[in-house]
Amino acid sequence: MEEINLSKRLKEVASLVPVGSKLLDVGSDHAYLPIYLIQQQKIRSAIAGEVVQGPFESALSNVKANHLEGFISVKLANGLDALEITEQVSVITICGMGGRLISSILENGKEKLASITQLILQPNNREEELRNWLVNHQFTIIAEKIIEENGKIYEIMVARPGHSHLNEQEKQFGPFLSLEKSPIFKKKWQKEQRKLLLALDQIPQSYQSEREQLSKKIEMIKEILDES
Ligand code: SAM
Repeated sequence: MEEINLSKRLKEVASLVPVGSKLLDVGSDHAYLPIYLIQQQKIRSAIAGEVVQGPFESALSNVKANHLEGFISVKLANGLDALEITEQVSVITICGMGGRLISSILENGKEKLASITQLILQPNNREEELRNWLVNHQFTIIAEKIIEENGKIYEIMVARPGHSHLNEQEKQFGPFLSLEKSPIFKKKWQKEQRKLLLALDQIPQSYQSEREQLSKKIEMIKEILDES
């Protein structure tokens, strides 16, 4: 058996998975996350779902190489189709995809979410769209993390069923991240602010509504960075 050497990003996700969970990992290209969690004896069992044949085969062969077929079932499936309604999965992880794709995976399988106690999501972009989906579908964000690895900044959010409300600022920046304002959070938004200011410079004065939209976002970033 080989000990899985997880990326910092996936280790942070793994640290958020409750002990004793039954997990569905959607988009489990190498099944690294479920294999690591079983090896650490943190979870009881897992489903590794993958929609593309090549990555599915790679997940399957990693599970076999680690003799974990009795603990991890690898399925070639689109999103939450990997989950039979009778399977008692408690936690779903969806990591390393765009926020819009994660939202659409949740939307397309929303009838399967009734028995889920936690969603652990790591969008690579459009985090605000995902937060919007969560609050509109009776999920409440209970924790957020922001980390940097190899020059890239990643956000991770944990949600559980429950009604919540987020204002515009919380949707954009994250209810916990915007309170904490860690150095990585500031770095992310300073970089985004510079990028948007450059983009604004390129938009002709005649494109008034585009300029207004961008200026509004730049102003929101300025406000959050200026707040102590
Ligand atoms: N989750 C891993 C991680 O965070 O390192 C892999 C990320 S990889 C960039 C995204 C994976 O999700 C790819 O293997 C892709 O084929 C898979 N994927 C994309 N859409 C999917 C869907 N609707 N259902 C299942 N897997 C999907």
